Amino acid sequence: IQRLEESVVNRIAAGEVIQRPVSAVKELVENSLDADSSSISVVVKDGGLKLIQVSDDGHGIRREDLPILCERHTTSKLTKYEDLFSLSSMGFRGEALASMTYVAHVTVTTITKGQIHGYRVSYRDGVMEHEPKACAAVKGTQIMVENLFYNMTARRKTLQNSADDYGKIVDLLSRMAIHHNNVSFSCRKHGAVKADVHSVSRLDSIRSVYGVSVAKNLMKVEVSSCDPSGCTFDMEGFISNSNYVSKKTILVLFINDRLVECSALKRAIEIVYAATLPKASKPFVYMSINLPREHVDINIHPTKKEVSLLNQEIIIEMIQSEVEVKLRNANDTRTFQEQKVEYIQSTLTSPRSDSTVSPKPSGQKAQKVPVNKMVRTDSSDPAGRLHAFLQPKPHNLPDKVSSLSVVRSSVRQRRNPKETADLSSVQELIAGVDSCCHPGLLETVRNCTYVGMADDVFALVQYNTHLYLANVVNLSKELMYQQTLRRFAHFNAIQLSDPAPLSELILLALKEEDLDPETDKNDDLKERIAEMNTELLKEKAEMLEEYFSVYIDSDGNLSRLPVILDQYTPDMDRVPEFLLCLGNDVEWEDEKSCFQGVSAAIGNFYAMYPPLLPNPSGDGIQFYTKNLDKDLLSDAENAWAQREWSIQHVLFPSMRLFLKPPASMASNGTFVKVASLEKLYKIFERC
Ligand code: ADP
Ligand code: MG
Repeated sequence: IQRLEESVVNRIAAGEVIQRPVSAVKELVENSLDADSSSISVVVKDGGLKLIQVSDDGHGIRREDLPILCERHTTSKLTKYEDLFSLSSMGFRGEALASMTYVAHVTVTTITKGQIHGYRVSYRDGVMEHEPKACAAVKGTQIMVENLFYNMTARRKTLQNSADDYGKIVDLLSRMAIHHNNVSFSCRKHGAVKADVHSVSRLDSIRSVYGVSVAKNLMKVEVSSCDPSGCTFDMEGFISNSNYVSKKTILVLFINDRLVECSALKRAIEIVYAATLPKASKPFVYMSINLPREHVDINIHPTKKEVSLLNQEIIIEMIQSEVEVKLRNANDTRTFQEQKVEYIQSTLTSPRSDSTVSPKPSGQKAQKVPVNKMVRTDSSDPAGRLHAFLQPKPHNLPDKVSSLSVVRSSVRQRRNPKETADLSSVQELIAGVDSCCHPGLLETVRNCTYVGMADDVFALVQYNTHLYLANVVNLSKELMYQQTLRRFAHFNAIQLSDPAPLSELILLALKEEDLDPETDKNDDLKERIAEMNTELLKEKAEMLEEYFSVYIDSDGNLSRLPVILDQYTPDMDRVPEFLLCLGNDVEWEDEKSCFQGVSAAIGNFYAMYPPLLPNPSGDGIQFYTKNLDKDLLSDAENAWAQREWSIQHVLFPSMRLFLKPPASMASNGTFVKVASLEKLYKIFERC
């Protein structure tokens, strides 16, 4: 084992920091930016191998700093480790200039403010070749890097053979120019008159660098978040619109003014474009993101451009959705060729290969969806629901509603929208519903897919890549309530085949409420309450009929109920409770509370509670085998199957159309997220 000579060690290290001519340019230009320059010009000869010259008009370097300027780890930007976290300059390692002197000849000409002349000095292997010489100079610093890699023959050869770095340098400066639009940049080949980068304003520099076709098809994007729990950032930039066509994505990304790369963000944006634009065009994107400095991992290798951020996923998601919104809105101004979408009626025997993407009629969705965002089913396509994988039960399902001894009649109420829609109290109640609506849940409800029932109360629904448990009782109750308000005075009616006597039904309800039904001693009281409630409801009959289509005749019989959702009849076992609730809980004096009370009672009555009979396909089966009651069993099977059918075919489709979920549902357990595909993928990736 031999100790390497220090010059060899330094040269190896230098070769790592300065990998190609463009890396030298980047370091030099960053130094100029750190020196508060407002104008930076670059001259390049032979792709940077012969000469790189960067001139700026920054604050310059003091005479006394020149001797150690090009030593390793000499910097004016950092004195102690903690400074790293409050750093706003681009350099801080004090390595760049030193590295260059190990692999090239470096000459510095500089003048600081207030001096009458400047100094020029050359460096080799980290040290001055001679004392600084006084010379004439214009404001700022000029650094010449000549004969790059003169002492690394192999590297020089490969670079000479490959396409030269000039294009890369122009590209780098173009990106810099877009971002630092208060600094003017120019870049030209040695001897050329015309500069290849010359910038004024941000859009100007995009135009001059990337062409008119890019510049005229850009839209501004902005998004920021100030979440005290950690996710704080702001982003502004430009993105190409749908008229822009390109095969390659260009992402010019600055994070805290540092030109970086972030492949996750790039992919996220590409996905949006692929999914939103009809043509598979790749975007042009310029973005400048600012974050608290401590949220960016700054202690990265000098040549490593890929960054890591705190809360990266959230930030990317927010940016992604902002881009999507911008694109979609901009899309409205553009006409698309209509694509015919063929809906394939899929069964289990024809496995779907296209189940990942919902066929949107406008044909805006493209095919590419990352695997961890693939969605098995979507709201417009029933394949993949749970029941499709189970053996169908031999039930005679939906249409046979008659078993409930109800005949639906199409008695239409007098329709006189003007007269009743003016009732301001109902309008106020509807406005109340609208104002409580939770936008996130609304989005979920609108686009979710019913997967199946998880138990008696919770349905599994899928929204994008998330799986939720949704409380069917709460949801249906709210939906029925809202629909009652919306259909106010405009109901179709369900005609009961046998009018039912109110007093008996109410008495039934009172007895059911009683915890100890054996004792008869309160029966008198109950009968009197039932009587009173019946009288009260008879008194209100006209109003109940007119506005709610609840028809009570003069003998105190209930004979008609409203249709709240088409194709849905409430569970008649719950009529007694409903009547009791009408009699007891409604506040009749005040118009608004009265309407609200009646609507709530109807909502509760029509809600899709589990049937009163135990579920025969669950634990409840014991109940029937014990009692050996065949008829009861088939009643129960019917009731449960009927309910599940209604949930899938009536409740969920109607919810998608009408439900405005109140904010309370986000926290009261009505919606519970149980799984998210991305998270599952993460778990599997780790395995
Ligand atoms: P770093 O930028 O990490 O500090 P460098 O090797 O790039 O290390 O530069 C070393 C020091 O030289 C800088 O800290 C700065 O003080 C000075 N310097 C380099 N280039 C310039 C310039 N163009 N204008 C003024 N000062 C400069
Ligand atoms: Mg530097």
